Formats: sequence, C-alpha cells, structure tokens
Amino acid sequence: MLLTKAEATARKILLDFGIDTIEALTSIRLKDLIQARGAYYEEIEMEGNDGRIVTYYDHSVISINRSITDTGKKRFTAAHELGHYELHRNLSVNFDTHYELCNWYQGGSHEKEANEFASELLMPTRLFLQQCVKKKFNNVLIEQLSNTFIVSRTAAILKYLKVGTHPICIICSKGNKVRWWKLSKEMETAEHEFIPSWLRYKIKVTSGLPPPADSVAGQLMKSGRNQLTTDRIQEIDKSTWFLTHPKEKSTMFEYCNFVSQYNFALSVVWED
Ligand SMILES: [Zn+2]
Repeated sequence: MLLTKAEATARKILLDFGIDTIEALTSIRLKDLIQARGAYYEEIEMEGNDGRIVTYYDHSVISINRSITDTGKKRFTAAHELGHYELHRNLSVNFDTHYELCNWYQGGSHEKEANEFASELLMPTRLFLQQCVKKKFNNVLIEQLSNTFIVSRTAAILKYLKVGTHPICIICSKGNKVRWWKLSKEMETAEHEFIPSWLRYKIKVTSGLPPPADSVAGQLMKSGRNQLTTDRIQEIDKSTWFLTHPKEKSTMFEYCNFVSQYNFALSVVWED
C-alpha cells in the first residue's frame, strides 16, 4: 500500500523509537514522545478546543485540554498535534483542534494530514492488520481494536475502512443530517481473490438530508438524545441505505455509535 507523507512520517518515528509491538506502542506516553521530539507538552484548561499547537521561532508548545477524560480521545488529540508539529511547524501557522473525527473527510488538508499521522502512529497498519487476521468484521472486532490500541471506536472504524479486508461503508450524520459517506475500495485478499466490488452499491441518501428513518442512525438521533453515547447494532435491509433491485433481498448490519454531545452518529454498514 502506498504511504502518504503523513503516514511515512509517523512510521519513521515509530522506527526511530523502536516501537514495533502493541506492548511498546501502548506503554509509551504521548507526552514523553512529544517531548522527545522537541516540543513542549502541557495539559491546560481550554475553552472550545481539545488541542492546540503554537510555534514561535524554534519553540513549539502543544496544549491539550485537561478536561478530556477519555484516554483514547486524549491520545488521539496529542498524536494529532504531534502530526502538526512534524509536518507543519515550518508554516508559521498555529493550529487549533476541535476533536471531531466526523470532519475527517471535510477538514482542510493540514487537518487531514494530522489525522492520518495520528492514525498511523497509534494504529500502525501492520500491527492493526495482525489483529484483524481471521476475524469476522463486526462490532466486537471494532471494540477489540479500540481497546487494544487505546483509541476511540470512531478512530478504529476509520482505520478499518482504510486498511481492513472486509468491505464496509461508513456514513457520518451530524445534527440529523447526513454529512458524508465512504466505501471500502475494491480489495484483493491475501489469496488474490477479488472481493466482489463494493462499488456496485449505490447509496441512496443525499448529503444534507436526515438519515433514513429505518436506519439505526435515524433511530438513535431521534431517541438517544438523553444519553451521552449510545451504540447499537441491528440487522437492516439493504434498501435502508442503498438502491436495490425490486427482486433483490439482502440483509446487512448497521452498527451506529451516537455521541449526543456532538449530535454526531457514525454508522458502519456491512454484509456478513
Ligand atoms: Zn489540527
């Protein structure tokens, strides 16, 4: 697989620090890694942002919002800021980060690069794929990946979309509107069999409109408002999200993670 510049940079840092196992990866503190790379790390009170990097001449200060309690989120935010440090510190621009992985495919190119860097730093592709071998794709696998790599489920899902071997479709809704969707590309398995193209699935939603009422995302957005986060997996009909042939019948699964604080739902749809 071709590496982007951001991914190659993350990989070089892991190599330099001799991090090549999950144990090594999860025992290193992001704070130590950042300081070893030459930036200052602090956790402070911040309003509205989760992370920030300020560079002044040769000095860079990475600040992380101290009120972040979720370890996975804190790690990803710190890794994202380190990505700005490694890739963008010569641009003399300060970056503020409002942690919303929902914007993964919408943020500017610098944000996308910092996310790609963080994703490869915290979930190196080789180690990530080792954890997926001979395992069926489902919500349990996502949970395992999220726990193993100490990242949020959203981060694990987005990584799986990129490198995983089972075709999935991700649909992101925010404020009861579908924002974007992404499908796995056609993939070749280790046995050189081509997985039937996922591209033949024609999604039938329109960005800017509410998710379908019979989708899990649609149901959670309606009913899940009182809980902080809710997730649910459910069998759905293919026609919920995709155009279907009148005679075609196909069952799919939708796993949806809903975060009420951001009114944000990330759905993963797949065939068994
Ligand atoms: Zn950023």
